[in-house]
Amino acid sequence: MEHIGNHETTCKDDADTRVDVKHIDEENLGTLSVSAIDTNRDMEHTDEQIMDSLTLPAVTKALAINRDGGEQLSGVQLEDLIGMIKNAERNILLLNQARVHALEDLHKILSEKETLQGEINILEMRLTEADAQIKVACQEKIHVELLEDQLEKLRNELIHRGGSGKSELELSQNQNKISNEEVLLARDGRVHSLSKEVDSLKTENLALKNDIQALKSMLSNVKNTDERMITLENERSFLQSSLKELESKLSVSQEDSSNISTLKVECKDLWAKVENLQLLLDKATKQADQAILVLQQNQDLRKKVDKLEESLEEANVFKVSSEKMQQYNELMQQKMKLLEERLQKSDQEIHSYVQLYQESVKEFQDTLDSLIEESKKRASNEPVDDMPWEFWSRLLLTIDGWVLEKKISNTDAKLLRELVWKRDQHICDAYLACKEKNESEAVSTFLRLTSSPASPGLYVVHIAAEMAPVAKVGGLGDVVTGLSKALQKKGHLVEIILPKYDCMQYNRVRDLRALDVTVESYFDGKLFQNKVWVGTVEGLPVYFIEPHHPNKFFWRGQYYGEHDDFKRFSFFSRAALELLLQAGKKPDIIHCHDWQTAFVAPLYWDLYAPKGLNSARICFTCHNFEYQGTASATELASCGLDVPQLNRPDRMQDNSAHDRVNPVKGAIVFSNIVTTVSPTYAQEVRTAEGGRGLHSTLNFHSKKFMGILNGIDTDAWNPTTDIFLKVQYSANELQGKAENKAAMRRHLGLLSADDQQPLVGCITRLVPQKGVHLIRHAIYRTLEMGGQFVLLGSSPVAHIQVNLYCCFVYAKANDGKEDLINKREFEGIANQFQNHEHIRLILKYDESLSHYIYAASDMFIIPSIFEPCGLTQMIAMRYGSVPIARKTGGLNDSVFDVDDDTIPHQFRNGFTFTTPDEQGVNGAFERAFNLYKNNQKSWQQLVRNDMNIDFSWDSSASQYEELYAKSVARARAAAIHT
Ligand code: ADP
Repeated sequence: MEHIGNHETTCKDDADTRVDVKHIDEENLGTLSVSAIDTNRDMEHTDEQIMDSLTLPAVTKALAINRDGGEQLSGVQLEDLIGMIKNAERNILLLNQARVHALEDLHKILSEKETLQGEINILEMRLTEADAQIKVACQEKIHVELLEDQLEKLRNELIHRGGSGKSELELSQNQNKISNEEVLLARDGRVHSLSKEVDSLKTENLALKNDIQALKSMLSNVKNTDERMITLENERSFLQSSLKELESKLSVSQEDSSNISTLKVECKDLWAKVENLQLLLDKATKQADQAILVLQQNQDLRKKVDKLEESLEEANVFKVSSEKMQQYNELMQQKMKLLEERLQKSDQEIHSYVQLYQESVKEFQDTLDSLIEESKKRASNEPVDDMPWEFWSRLLLTIDGWVLEKKISNTDAKLLRELVWKRDQHICDAYLACKEKNESEAVSTFLRLTSSPASPGLYVVHIAAEMAPVAKVGGLGDVVTGLSKALQKKGHLVEIILPKYDCMQYNRVRDLRALDVTVESYFDGKLFQNKVWVGTVEGLPVYFIEPHHPNKFFWRGQYYGEHDDFKRFSFFSRAALELLLQAGKKPDIIHCHDWQTAFVAPLYWDLYAPKGLNSARICFTCHNFEYQGTASATELASCGLDVPQLNRPDRMQDNSAHDRVNPVKGAIVFSNIVTTVSPTYAQEVRTAEGGRGLHSTLNFHSKKFMGILNGIDTDAWNPTTDIFLKVQYSANELQGKAENKAAMRRHLGLLSADDQQPLVGCITRLVPQKGVHLIRHAIYRTLEMGGQFVLLGSSPVAHIQVNLYCCFVYAKANDGKEDLINKREFEGIANQFQNHEHIRLILKYDESLSHYIYAASDMFIIPSIFEPCGLTQMIAMRYGSVPIARKTGGLNDSVFDVDDDTIPHQFRNGFTFTTPDEQGVNGAFERAFNLYKNNQKSWQQLVRNDMNIDFSWDSSASQYEELYAKSVARARAAAIHT
């Protein structure tokens, strides 16, 4: 009934409707029929109103337009239509309400009828009883009357006998008779009382008859009520039919309104285009106006010149006669000169405009020509003519050999033969490229040609929780973008699927738009709609998934650290696969990253490959084994995975808790390729110390596991073009670096008296892994050794950062737990150095400031306890900041000590220490400060060397490329054999 209450509130807008509703509510049983009839009338009235409103010309037009789809809907029409829909909804509710009342009335009448029937039955029983009593009384009365007659007779006889002198016997007999008669007389008294009773019974009978009469009249009333009931039933069915009619009208209206919203979106797009065109038009008009203005000015000037020439001629006439005229003439001449100059200027201006226009037309034509040329080239795909026929024949024989040996399928062979017949450039290149390779590599290279004859590349889809710069928390975001860009450059088709977070950097997404379809995905026993957005980030195509789930999974103001992260990301993993399936995509590789998208691997093989999304191999990269996302095994069921099947020691069961599942372990088991982000880290995690419980699993699957050192995005991290810097600079021109240092010191309020005072930088997430106690020590050590220190530190959990802005805190976002350690101690440090002239602690995430610090600092400290890869050391070197790093994980693969004799000179690039303690830091710091202060020349050389190291994704992406290709080739070969 709640909705009816609400409805009454809504109806307050509509006076007629409100009266109807009240009327029904206030009627009582006695006036039920009137109420019901009124209700019916009211409903009819409402129905008519709806019909009226439906025939409103504006709305009719709106609907007609909508159906035709030709014209645009005006706001008023739209409002009318929406109003109409609302009215229809209200009236439907009213009808429902009336129906409910009518039913209630019906029930009341029926129960009333039943009570009356009961009463009638009781009265009728009492009536029969009374009748029986009357019958008995009548019989007794007859008997009494008979006795009275007899008595009378006896009396008469007695009187008669007394007068004629009877015998004694007779007398005694008579005496007896008399005594008998006396008995009878006594009975006569009873008769009297009986007759009284009979009378009272008669009156009672009469009353009962009256009652029966009244009941009969009531019964006839009930009959009337029955008739009314039938009428009401008819009315109800009529109301139902009109309700159905209204509902169908409503559904038509809803369809119309959905059409309208589509039209609105189209209209919006068109408006945006029209606005763009308008802008262009305005620009063009402005330019034309300017040109017209210049022309008009020109004409005016010409007229003035003409006039002046005329007046000059006139003046010339009087020249001789008048000295004044002479002066005037001179003046005029000067003016004329001036005007001629202006005329010339404006002529030049027009000329330059015309030239500019001609140049831009030429440029346009050139671009057009080159584009046409290029497309012609592409279209023709000219055959390679300069290879001897022998070459092509050999190639054909090779292909035939492979088919016979069942190394390739007949279909692939057919395609390859066609390429040979066409003397296609691609197959020629492939053959030449395979000269040095073994046969299986050659087969996979050739098979790539058949998968997509026009582009021999692979189709790779990354499913990830981060992507720089739109949604970046740490290195994962950098890797997804850097690797994708490098693969794209190598000719592969790369796509990325991300959650659509509310807190993303939307300004870094280009052409973001929602697709006109939703993708339905399963979760917790239900299907949920997902809105799919597309846009480009750093030139890469990205799909953003926005789930329409009541828990608003990605509408939390932060990326991680929510209590339901397991649910959020298992939902996302499934929705991403659903998107690929429903879009009919056939990727060669699906690459998932870290525990957040590790669910993709088991989901793919258990649910999606059987559904037909079976073209892909799964690659899983673990960027940090510290975070494994374990959860209670039952939680796995939400995304549709089979808990008993997967919670097994050889599958997803966590190695240290049997009632928990481990997504990272699941991905290791179910992926075709497993990588981590540096070779040293790959070794470390295979040991009991470094594997965080997964070393045995990794050792078991070691054949498919390897470490590939990350690269960095050298376009985004480039000091020669970096827009965040005060001054751009290069290895050959280091003055710019010094200027950035000076500017940043000023910016942060640090003392900048001494140019030669070394500045140490540190940019990190403040988690224990990063060696926070050693960072703290490095701050004090820098101060002792006369340097300056800038720390940019972020917490992975956004709200900690906000609440404790001035504190040096760190939190561990592992499986949703937060770990606040040494808070008080670091609060103290932050406060102590708040206005210090050599130390600055900035506790937040700040992309632009990070660029500035890399450029401004001379040294960069990375004292990690463990470091899967680490990007900051590579970025620092690219910006000429020399790393001081602990030899672990990826740091060990990218930072080589300047004093390490086992390393060739050209590879030495920084200062390293082995044990993660204060002595280790001190040793490396002292050596670095020593070189900086005492041998500036060597230092500068070191800086230049570091800046010239190639940390691009190029070589790392090649390694991924090779892994992908091998895996795809293996799968195809297996498919041929089965
Ligand atoms: P991790 O992935 O463990 O956080 P990496 O060294 O692999 O560490 O990557 C860190 C990335 O995050 C680098 O690009 C670094 O510049 C950036 N970064 C870390 N902390 C901050 C911060 N507070 N503000 C801006 N960028 C940061």
